[in-house]
Amino acid sequence: MIYKNKIALITGVTGQDGAYLSELLLSKGYIVHGIKRRASLLNTDRVDHLYQDPHESNVRFKLHYGDLSDSMNITRIIQEVQPDEIYNLGAMSHVKVSFDTPEYTANIDGLGTLRILEAVRLLGLTEKTRIYQASTSELYGLVQEVPQKETTPFYPRSPYGVAKLYGYWITVNYREAYNMYACNGILFNHESPLRGETFVTRKITRATSKIILGIQDVLYIGNLDAKRDWGHAKDYVEAMWLMLQQDKPEDYVIATGITTTVRDFIKMAFSNVGITLAFEGEAEAEIGKIVSCAHLDYQFPIGKVVVKVDAQYYRPTEVDLLIGDATKCKQKLQWEPKFTLEDLVKDMMTSDLKLFKKEQYLKAGGHDIVNSSEE
Ligand code: NDP
Ligand code: GDP
Repeated sequence: MIYKNKIALITGVTGQDGAYLSELLLSKGYIVHGIKRRASLLNTDRVDHLYQDPHESNVRFKLHYGDLSDSMNITRIIQEVQPDEIYNLGAMSHVKVSFDTPEYTANIDGLGTLRILEAVRLLGLTEKTRIYQASTSELYGLVQEVPQKETTPFYPRSPYGVAKLYGYWITVNYREAYNMYACNGILFNHESPLRGETFVTRKITRATSKIILGIQDVLYIGNLDAKRDWGHAKDYVEAMWLMLQQDKPEDYVIATGITTTVRDFIKMAFSNVGITLAFEGEAEAEIGKIVSCAHLDYQFPIGKVVVKVDAQYYRPTEVDLLIGDATKCKQKLQWEPKFTLEDLVKDMMTSDLKLFKKEQYLKAGGHDIVNSSEE
């Protein structure tokens, strides 16, 4: 079905989910407005392929400068755009960084949500505008129940989790107080080739690619025992959209129901390029060694250490285990993920290998490459 002329506004449009959601909504015929932040360097890489010259007629993808810390800006954009749907994806989304920037995280991830809801209310758009709030499995934090579902008590373990807890409850409160169509998607970790480089999966697929190309020697990593329920972002943006197409606004868990350790994710990434790893040692002294290498192009000595734990990547308080129960979403929204974890690893590895082969080629041609930090 084509939803011609439906108007969506996406905060966080330049992020992983913002990019996939924009593609999805454009494919459904929506006009998509996005809020991007002003930065000293261009930050629209993930959506550049969707850019349309504003001088063309029928432009369906439009970006506005803005920031979730700025109520006046948010209110003005919502007033101008008059959206049918708002997807509030903008956030300081990194758990570890939230320990370094707790007040900023609370402002953007907590109060930013309030700013959106209040703008819609003050502009008299409560009947027209539906709101999706990007809630998170980090709300569950310290394990209270497994698998985690909509009724599982929250116990966040980071400034990010606590800020998102405010975002969750203020969304519920505006729904109940003002009869707004506002939903929380409690999404478990979801990844893709567009995932931010400092999240663990992308850090692993980037490092694995660089190691086998000889650009990097070792992957330094934090807690190998943490378990996450990893899905593919492409599947998860479908669920966001479905949540706003129902008769009644409700909150939903989106997850695959399968949990995997960071250690096993690393093994899967290396195995994708024909390398088997074995781990030995304990806690901060744990290392990963190559035990076999069947890759035709790259030969590595058996016993080479390619993974080392570095305690600087540990968090002051950790979320040990996430595994979600998406039964409600599957039953009510008929949502089913299309990607398995193996598909996800393959997709990310294929993309990162291509990226670094290109980088290697440019380097060989004498072009300088700037390396990003490997947090
Ligand atoms: P990303 O970190 O890739 O994207 C975050 C987006 O928010 C970026 O566009 C970023 O802009 C923007 N942003 C950051 N600060 C501000 C601000 N002050 N004002 C306006 N925009 C801002 O996150 P994801 O796409 O992975 O996640 C989308 C949402 O879903 C986030 O809210 C995240 O917390 C939540 N979530 C994500 C999960 C996941 O596994 N990916 C799991 C559960 C929830 P810029 O590009 O300029 O940095
Ligand atoms: P999160 O679940 O939102 O915190 O997503 P991340 O991808 O940042 O982290 C997932 C898990 O991987 C957490 O339990 C981290 O402690 C763990 N982890 C282990 N090593 C690293 C690392 O080097 N970087 C990151 N980002 N996470 C790591």
